[in-house]
Amino acid sequence: MQTKHSIQDYVNVVKGGITKNFRGARPKKVIIVGAGLAGLSAACELLEAGHDPLVLEAQHRVGGRIYTMREPFARGLYGEAGAMRIPRSHELTMAYVDKFGLQTCDFVMGNPQAYVYVAGVRRRLAEVQANPELMGFEVSEVEKGKISGLYWEQTIRPLVEKIEKEGEAAWEQIYAEYDQYSVREFLELKGWSEGMIEMFGLLNNQEAMMNSSFLELFREDGGNYYTNMCQIAGGADNLPYAFLPTLGPRVRYGARMVAVDQTPDQVVVHYQTRVGRFEARADYAILTVPFPVLRHVEVLKPFSRAKQRAIRQLHYDASAKIFFQTRRRFWEEDEGIYGGGTVTDLAIRNLYYTDYGKETGRGILLASYTWSEDAQRWGSLLPHERIEQAIENVAVIHPQIREEFEVGASHMWHDDPYAGGAFALFDPGQQTLLHDEIIKPEGRIHFAGEHASLYHAWIQGAFESGLRAAIAIHQSP
Ligand code: FAD
Repeated sequence: MQTKHSIQDYVNVVKGGITKNFRGARPKKVIIVGAGLAGLSAACELLEAGHDPLVLEAQHRVGGRIYTMREPFARGLYGEAGAMRIPRSHELTMAYVDKFGLQTCDFVMGNPQAYVYVAGVRRRLAEVQANPELMGFEVSEVEKGKISGLYWEQTIRPLVEKIEKEGEAAWEQIYAEYDQYSVREFLELKGWSEGMIEMFGLLNNQEAMMNSSFLELFREDGGNYYTNMCQIAGGADNLPYAFLPTLGPRVRYGARMVAVDQTPDQVVVHYQTRVGRFEARADYAILTVPFPVLRHVEVLKPFSRAKQRAIRQLHYDASAKIFFQTRRRFWEEDEGIYGGGTVTDLAIRNLYYTDYGKETGRGILLASYTWSEDAQRWGSLLPHERIEQAIENVAVIHPQIREEFEVGASHMWHDDPYAGGAFALFDPGQQTLLHDEIIKPEGRIHFAGEHASLYHAWIQGAFESGLRAAIAIHQSP
């Protein structure tokens, strides 16, 4: 088991550096594989602590799953294919945002002016909230007149209160008691009717996640991740790029790790560039690549059986995003929708109304944001077919799209060779079974990345794991 640090410990590192907070041994040479936020934060803190980091990055940009797509859109417009919003309660992420002096603005989550489109009928969210029965879900007597979001909050309230009262100890108990439950099993345990489960699935975007661990969802809602969110002005890529003034010369782009080896004294990372195959040697390595990618890397000195199992079994979710550039911000001008999202039972499922780029006169519509099965179905279409199909769906909600559409783009994270999935998402039971093994170092090789944290699918998980590995190496002989 590794030493456990609190988020506050990591925030202190961001503010004051590793050396101010942790005693270390001699300076070390460290290879960091992957220039996402886990790799960048680890490299940056190691460099500042007097170590000698080298970052190997397969792509030609930093940021990984922070991917602000500026092409093929008009100047000043972009689509956030990866992370787009930051909970202000994610103190570690906010510590880096503050450290780099990045501007933020609110990210609107729920907007009563947006729509709910279910079973062929479009209604404003406000209307549905006032009268959920309009949607015709077959709910039980006790559920009548209730909307799924509030009913969910009511259902998890006793657990949230337990955490408010008992803190960390309560989390441990909840982990032990509920790790085996999927979201659906938890709802059934709490006596939800099939109609209410369906409403929750559709209105709260949970349908694709019903078979995932209940704990994944509870961590987000129990931790209030979605209640107060912000976005980075000008694009989320400003965050990874902020590391470059310090780290630029230490990053080797176009270097794809293909094999890794270690002896009692050193680590060897074999990497492929357009020119050929090379190797880099160091005292330690931090592998931040997602496990689906690691599956295709040759491990010359095999990892422990437990680590191999974790790499094989850890469940990753799929995710797809489809963006449209529009000539006019018709959702604002015609329909009074400023930010937030519309939910549908169509293949596009969720639309988000971005609020940036006003100065261009044009707009970016996140025409579809899907996970899991919903996302995989988009992956089976060709890129131009995705755009055509999404236009058909969006036109049902906003007929103006046929006039106003200019260009579209999509990204399928499950087909991305450098991600192999969107993010780790435990199946029921996997937290108990795999988490300790995921984060455990193997000799001189450390593991970081959002999957090596309990903040799956959040930037904060990348930072937490990157700093954990950096501190451990700083303290190693
Ligand atoms: P990555 O960013 O994936 O970094 C890994 C790096 O390794 C990449 O740069 C990759 O190119 C490189 N690499 C891969 N293979 C190799 C190889 N063989 N050799 C060398 N380099 C390699 N988080 C939030 O906080 N808010 C959000 O709104 C949010 N939304 C999200 C939406 C989507 C669709 C996705 C996919 C993620 C979202 N996240 C969000 C999660 C967040 O983006 C991630 O948790 C975080 O960016 C992961 O960082 P990382 O460093 O762990 O991994």
